[in-house]
Amino acid sequence: MPHSALSHLECSKTGKRYDADQVQGVSDAGVPLLARYDLEQVAATVTPAEIATRPATLWRYHEVLPVRDEANIVSLGEGMTPLLPLPSYGASIGVPGLLMKDEGLIPTGTFKARGAAVGVSRAKELGVTGVAMPTNGNAGAAWAVYAARAEMKSLIAMPVDAPSITRAECVVAGAELYLVDGLIGDAGKLVAKAVAERTGYQEVSTLKEPYRLEGKKTMGYEIVEQLGWRAPDVILYPAGGGVGHIGIYKALLEMRELGWLKGELPRLVAVQAEGCAPIVEAYEAGKDESEPFPDAHTVAFGITVPKALGDFLVLEAVRATEGTAIAVSDADLLAEQAELARREGAFICPEGAACMAAAKQLRASGWLREGDRTVVLNTGAGIKYPETVTVDVPTLAVDSRIPSPSAG
Ligand SMILES: *Cc1c(COP(=O)(O)O)cnc(C)c1O
Repeated sequence: MPHSALSHLECSKTGKRYDADQVQGVSDAGVPLLARYDLEQVAATVTPAEIATRPATLWRYHEVLPVRDEANIVSLGEGMTPLLPLPSYGASIGVPGLLMKDEGLIPTGTFKARGAAVGVSRAKELGVTGVAMPTNGNAGAAWAVYAARAEMKSLIAMPVDAPSITRAECVVAGAELYLVDGLIGDAGKLVAKAVAERTGYQEVSTLKEPYRLEGKKTMGYEIVEQLGWRAPDVILYPAGGGVGHIGIYKALLEMRELGWLKGELPRLVAVQAEGCAPIVEAYEAGKDESEPFPDAHTVAFGITVPKALGDFLVLEAVRATEGTAIAVSDADLLAEQAELARREGAFICPEGAACMAAAKQLRASGWLREGDRTVVLNTGAGIKYPETVTVDVPTLAVDSRIPSPSAG
């Protein structure tokens, strides 16, 4: 069995085949390419029991990842994040068995490290010497550090409003960084122009190369493995570019074909913020594609994507699994961020907190049942977003006294 069972790439709209051993962008139809594997060969040679003996990184699923030669793997130890029970918080919203997959505990503090690890490794394998991308911050930070480890160059452009820590991550890793007075789409146009004028750089914008998705799908493999090769009933995920949904759904279908997962697929929920909810609007209108969302703004910066290239694939994943799409307000998600930290000690990112607020609302409406095995993805660490917490505390003079507890 080779290290990877990658066979070819496939247009996500027309099914047309593309050579996986050439650097590829989007398909001729202008839509994402999906990596395909010889799953029959994998099923015949690998078992879940064998995977259980492998190191605790996402590379434990290497047969269904695109890197052909193990020597090309660029790793900072990403993957196999904990699936934490939230007994106190879960009980408070009426879902006592609530589980949180905590992607804050991964290099760079967001799940973006998964896509960067696999994307950079495969780009290096195919001879790419520089990667270029627009980003809302976290993806740029992740690709910058993995590019540094791969001895590749990186060109990153992000909105000036993106979380400032992500700038520092790019700069410290030696990326060529630009701030753009606009949104991610504006940054994308500038990057596309720059790449056209350079050689050796690949544009690795969301879903404009096929392998970031492969890294992100490992969240789906891990959830199922961590539940004893069983799917939960519901997975809630904050939808921005949609790579998480598309990747988790792809993983579920692959595992079913491999015989590693039996029974019903989990209902996939796309969570957005009211200030940027194009996918929720399209879902509610019964449309297959979203419209660009005007004046997009939310504290959950990672999901400020007014129009995602893969929107139709997210909508397909949500509908095919009988999931749903829901938008929550910034006030509600910030309230859940604080409530979760007080009850469970988990300081999560605003995007993850949006999913907590969504779980609470879906439970209140009855869509989520008390006994549903429910997994919320926390896509990043709260410590990357210090500005989401207002710190209003007294500063004491050295000769003063700390008030007694009863006084407060
Ligand atoms: C990028 C990002 C998202 C959105 O993820 P997609 O897979 O692109 O939909 C959610 N949360 C955080 C913290 C992010 O950085």
